[in-house]
Amino acid sequence: MQKSASDGFRRSGAGDSGATERPVNAGDRLDERPDADTRRFQTDAIRTQAARSGYNEHSVPVYMTSGFMFESAEHAQALFAGEADGTIYSRYANPNTDELVQKLCRLEGTDAGIVTASGMAAVFASLAAFLSAGDHVVASRALFGSSLQVLGKILPRWGITVDFVGGHDPAAFAAALRPGTRLVLIESPSNPGLELFDIAAIAEVAHAGGARLIVDNCFATPYLQQPARLGADIVVHSATKFIDGQGRSLGGAVLGPAELIEEVVFFARHTGPSLSPFNAWILSKSLETLAVRMDRHCDNSLQLAQSLEGRPGIARVLYPGLPSHPQHALAQQQMYAGGGIVTLEIAGGIQGATRFINRLQMISRSANLGDTRTIATHPATTTHSKLTDEERAAVGITPGLVRIAVGLEDIRDIIGDVEQALG
Ligand SMILES: *Cc1c(COP(=O)(O)O)cnc(C)c1O
Repeated sequence: MQKSASDGFRRSGAGDSGATERPVNAGDRLDERPDADTRRFQTDAIRTQAARSGYNEHSVPVYMTSGFMFESAEHAQALFAGEADGTIYSRYANPNTDELVQKLCRLEGTDAGIVTASGMAAVFASLAAFLSAGDHVVASRALFGSSLQVLGKILPRWGITVDFVGGHDPAAFAAALRPGTRLVLIESPSNPGLELFDIAAIAEVAHAGGARLIVDNCFATPYLQQPARLGADIVVHSATKFIDGQGRSLGGAVLGPAELIEEVVFFARHTGPSLSPFNAWILSKSLETLAVRMDRHCDNSLQLAQSLEGRPGIARVLYPGLPSHPQHALAQQQMYAGGGIVTLEIAGGIQGATRFINRLQMISRSANLGDTRTIATHPATTTHSKLTDEERAAVGITPGLVRIAVGLEDIRDIIGDVEQALG
């Protein structure tokens, strides 16, 4: 493993074997896992596999089939009645999506889950499965743009009210709860402001108010943070980002306790946001290398952040792994390392950021993140251009902010490109 300067996270001091140890959150013990399985993170990520077919293949094949056969009329009847286990139709389940679900459950420490065609399908299913007209939702303001649109524009059409909380103070979430509040939704670290939310504290606040906490764990991935172990009821993912890790496939997941996931499964089976077997196969293969990729994403990010902090031309470097991040202590408490995203406040506002983006030679100008290739995005003019100046300011998106999704190239080339673009 490529080891950089000690960053104070739990893996520090664990020696090189730390890279293969399961990252555990404070108070977590392996024997407390729901399945009492003591295998470690990387082993789970690699060895959770669909049963072998009669061909005895080593690598799981793609089960590109829409339907499955019944042994008899009675077997079909039992499958449809839920009295027998088995596959019926790929909108419901498929060996590839089942494998991905089981693997994600092991990695996140949840008992059940469902995978979806995109991260937004997962976010929407996790809300729509539980909400009815008249219900109330408390949501962080620092959410992915499309999540804000669903909460602010789509759910209200169906008589669901939503209150947004600015900032990360658990007391502010407590104050926003009402008797009809069913769900609380947060994202930590947030995109692109890299604001952290104290998952354990907000889970306590939500539960005290009779609500359930949903955490979008896209930026951290299960390797860096396991919200269910910190008290979250539901974990959602855009698997499109670090879980795929190579910018190929969209995907999403909703994970949690069986009795809650049952409701999400009911919703998804009948509304059809199903993940294709091929994309499930890609994402499950990708999880085999999540730990090694995330170690490198985190190391490259920390080195980039350290090398740019205090440099002329950059007003501010924000990275949860830097001691200068306002919530560095919380990052060390609930994350295993600082993640793969660094934000830079380029001097000169919009003009400075535009010049910087245009001068990049290797780093890609794109809106995606979590790829092997380093990507630079200017949120104020692209992903968050539809927000007002005030709305952007409330979630830390200044005119000069550039989001760097740090890839897996040689760190010298990443730093070199940023340096030459700064001029
Ligand atoms: C990208 C993203 C989503 C949406 O995922 P898609 O796969 O693009 O639908 C949701 N939440 C966060 C934090 C994201 O970054």
